Amino acid sequence: MLIEDHSEIGTPVHCGECISGLACESLDLDLPDHVISKRVHGIRVIFPDGTEKRLTEEGYVLEKHLFERWIADEAVSAGASVHLSHKLSSMKRVENGRFAGWMCDGKGEQFPIQAKIVIDASGVAAVCSKTVKLEQGVPLNTMGKVVAGMQYEMLEVPTDGYLDFYIWPKYAEKGYLWMIPKCDGRANVGLVTEDRPRAKKALDEFIEITHFKELEQVPPPWKEKGNPAFGGTIPISGPFENTHYDGLMLVGDAAGFTSPLFEGGSHLALKSAVYAAETAAAAIAEGDLSAERLAIYPKLWKDEFPPYDKILRGKNALFDLTDEEMSLMARCFPDEMSNMGVSGKAMVGLRLLVRRPGLYFKRIVPAMLAFGYSRAKYYGW
Ligand SMILES: Cc1cc2nc3c(=O)[nH]c(=O)nc-3n(C[C@H](O)[C@H](O)[C@H](O)COP(=O)(O)OP(=O)(O)OC[C@H]3O[C@@H](n4cnc5c(N)ncnc54)[C@H](O)[C@@H]3O)c2cc1C
Repeated sequence: MLIEDHSEIGTPVHCGECISGLACESLDLDLPDHVISKRVHGIRVIFPDGTEKRLTEEGYVLEKHLFERWIADEAVSAGASVHLSHKLSSMKRVENGRFAGWMCDGKGEQFPIQAKIVIDASGVAAVCSKTVKLEQGVPLNTMGKVVAGMQYEMLEVPTDGYLDFYIWPKYAEKGYLWMIPKCDGRANVGLVTEDRPRAKKALDEFIEITHFKELEQVPPPWKEKGNPAFGGTIPISGPFENTHYDGLMLVGDAAGFTSPLFEGGSHLALKSAVYAAETAAAAIAEGDLSAERLAIYPKLWKDEFPPYDKILRGKNALFDLTDEEMSLMARCFPDEMSNMGVSGKAMVGLRLLVRRPGLYFKRIVPAMLAFGYSRAKYYGW
């Protein structure tokens, strides 16, 4: 059973909607044409002084709500039932001599629902982390930090098929701003920032001083009324301490799986969901729903996902630099950053040493490596 709080799958969209080709390959996704808005060549990173460097890796901008509906339809074809307007609010253990599942309650006609295994894919709401209590009565996980993401759909946006990511801390504190091109000249123009209260104002200010100022903002096709801005929040504290328990696994944003630098999460969400589904199927077939049996799940994602803390150190080092230092570092990068290799990185190091040796004391090396980790193979987008 697949339950969804909203009355339809995929809306409101709270995503820039890009996914790398490598993600689709690794997930064995054969995207149907109607979910693809545009094929893109990769990311162009634009530093504070306007210096532009590319990370070329082919990928897609999706119509994310149509993509999610397609995924749900695939699940239905494979035997799942979908129940819309069903909101989970509590879970009680079912014991039958030993752990035998969860009695789930909430809003929606199917409740109460008894489940052998629950996979929490509730996104940043992380419903099970709050409602499920460990033996000592403490919640399964304590909630971490989140950042705000917000965007507008715009028309007639010039593009050469790259996603434009602006690292301009003045507008996006410890985050970035983006132009993500879609079909027919449409694009998502938005930002992610740690300064949540200022998110909309900062985005409006950024638009005001760039070529986006002249362009028309429209509500996205799935939004009939209200403010044209759309977005949401993204967890940024890294994977949760407990991503499994008796008869329970957490996937995607509900487990804290997002990429530290550019905060993408779709690839991580889908990959973790595959691991959780495979683990659940095997455990149910064996009749063992215990946390010990499901312990394979954290092992699978830990072996696969890149080290969050290491990338976060790189991100923090990057944002410790002033705008001027960041731009200087960028000018030392080759125009194409996707495949620098050892000699490429050594060359950047040499150029930096000549231009500003003092930067080495500001942990420039981890800051530089953060860009390597934002590639698709490290689940960067
Ligand atoms: C502005 C913005 C831009 C982003 N851009 C990108 C991007 O371009 N590329 C990328 O890869 N990632 C991006 N992300 C991150 C990405 O959107 C998330 O990482 C991804 O959607 C996580 O998927 P998920 O399935 O874990 O959670 P979600 O997509 O959040 O899905 C959770 C679902 O659970 C439902 N739900 C919640 N609580 C309950 C409940 N109690 N009962 C029943 N249902 C419930 C919700 O309604 C929702 O449908 C962006 C995020 C934001 C906010």
